[in-house]
Amino acid sequence: MAAPTGAQLIAQALHELGIKVIFGLVGIPVVQIAEEAIKLGIRFIAFRNEQAASYAATAYGYLTGKPGVCLVVGGPGVLHAMSGIGNSSANAWPLLLLAGSSESHLVTKGAFQELDAVSLLTPHVKLAVRSTLESIPQSISNAYRTSWYGRGGTGFVDLPADVIQGEGDEISKVIVPSPARAAGDPERIAAAVKLLRAANAPLVIVGKGAAYAQAEGGIRKLINDTKIPFLPTPMGKGVLPDSHPSNTASARSAALKGADVVLILGARLNWILHFGEEPKWNPDVKIIQVDISAEELGKNNGDASLSIIGDINLVTSQLSSGLQNWQYNTSTPYISAIRASTVKNEATAAKAAQVDTLPMTYGRTFAVIKETLNALSPPENGDIVYVSEGANTMDISRSVFNVEHPRLRLDAGTYATMGVGLGYAIAAHCAYNLPDPQAESGSSSRKKIVCLEGDSAFGFSMPEIETMARYTMDILVFVVNNGGVYHGDSADSDAWLALQDKTAQGAAGGLRSTSLGWEVGYEKMAEMCGGKGYLVRTPEELRKATEEGFKATVPVVINIIIEAGQAKKLEFAWQKSTQKKAKNA
Ligand code: ADP
Repeated sequence: MAAPTGAQLIAQALHELGIKVIFGLVGIPVVQIAEEAIKLGIRFIAFRNEQAASYAATAYGYLTGKPGVCLVVGGPGVLHAMSGIGNSSANAWPLLLLAGSSESHLVTKGAFQELDAVSLLTPHVKLAVRSTLESIPQSISNAYRTSWYGRGGTGFVDLPADVIQGEGDEISKVIVPSPARAAGDPERIAAAVKLLRAANAPLVIVGKGAAYAQAEGGIRKLINDTKIPFLPTPMGKGVLPDSHPSNTASARSAALKGADVVLILGARLNWILHFGEEPKWNPDVKIIQVDISAEELGKNNGDASLSIIGDINLVTSQLSSGLQNWQYNTSTPYISAIRASTVKNEATAAKAAQVDTLPMTYGRTFAVIKETLNALSPPENGDIVYVSEGANTMDISRSVFNVEHPRLRLDAGTYATMGVGLGYAIAAHCAYNLPDPQAESGSSSRKKIVCLEGDSAFGFSMPEIETMARYTMDILVFVVNNGGVYHGDSADSDAWLALQDKTAQGAAGGLRSTSLGWEVGYEKMAEMCGGKGYLVRTPEELRKATEEGFKATVPVVINIIIEAGQAKKLEFAWQKSTQKKAKNA
């Protein structure tokens, strides 16, 4: 029998690690790895750009709790995939990145796609290694293990052409067991329990780290038993159901500002949580932060004396035991303030949903989509995954769509990256809908992946609609089209044409930096590759397209023309908030 090639050995190592999907884009010579992987039953999802593929692999890592795998060519392929490395590192999601490189003996000669990727990437990843033929199994398993164990990040393996094309010896079994989990220091647990019991205004913040840790069972028990109010971060939504009576999301500011003891489960005190600082937080708040990463504790709030290093699952169960037979008395001014704020904010949102103008507003658009989707699949079923990006689209839709189960909502995340959406949608489709030959039949339910994309965010990775179509992924994409980054700049097509004219003439004051094309036909992206496209302007058209799109078996793009010309309003809001910040400082 012929000796196995490097490509075969790499594919075999991935197979032994239990990899089911590789996201990537091939060229010479990594195409051989992809082909060998396909022969072993691994799915290779071929993207149109490495950036989207690398984003997809990170999201797959988050959703499945194991590293996502991305395979790219060397040089430019690696540069494009660096986006995924940034994403993995910022979000703390595990990613195994494999890249080809030029032949070892040609290094520094200016070879085809030559790049010293190991030097380039070392500062940005947890492990970067160049594999030899002999070290394929340990290079891949160590990069996989390192990306996964501890806080998630990237493991990178550089695979020279002569390694991929060489011939080596059969490999022995490659095994990377699930990471060990650490429980919390009993003294710290006892101190946390004492503080929570004595708190007047306790709050639990649930972050996407809790979703990644699949800690929903323990956290649900803790909240149900103790009645402590909780606040999910944008991707922490669903660890506890949004409809839960202890959810304070509709009164976020009141909940944060009024809390005197905050237990943080899987979130960082970064911009998403206003750094744990005034004016959003009470200056005397006591923070009990639980995290797998010791370095995170005490960051920004400066005091880690109450923090607990450990795995959320184990620490939550320790806290639950310590708080046994105790319940927070919810007849407090804190809870009254939260309730009053909830009523006020929900009334404002309900009003926004009813504004019945044409073109539609964001509020009306999302209300129609929500109503229609809820009728087709109620949120409690957990059969819809929402992917959401674009500044206004993401911010406004976040509170509109209820999520009742964990890991059903993906957005721009810690890095606030626009352009992740379509890659994430493909990742979610693979994580939830690809039949697993090892799963017992009927054990996994199919989910519909729904993308809510601003027209600007959609533009970053538009060609991935073709990827969806090629693999018959029935993903439903809404493009919320106001003709601009943030906001549309022109109230109507005449105003837009006048600006375009000025630009054409080289006059001052033409198209703005935030202007995009006027009523671009994004729905055609789906039509041109076998999907379905809809251009809608009214609630009735949107309702019908949503219904049909939900039931379709191909990718669907619904291009929704909404109210443009919001620049003035938004600039005004921006100025007001800047003035307020200056006053507070
Ligand atoms: P969010 O964006 O929801 O605020 P972040 O990504 O900022 O959440 O924070 C998630 C945190 O969860 C990270 O600091 C990460 O180290 C932590 N984390 C991830 N998995 C675990 C785990 N199993 N146990 C404890 N902490 C974890």
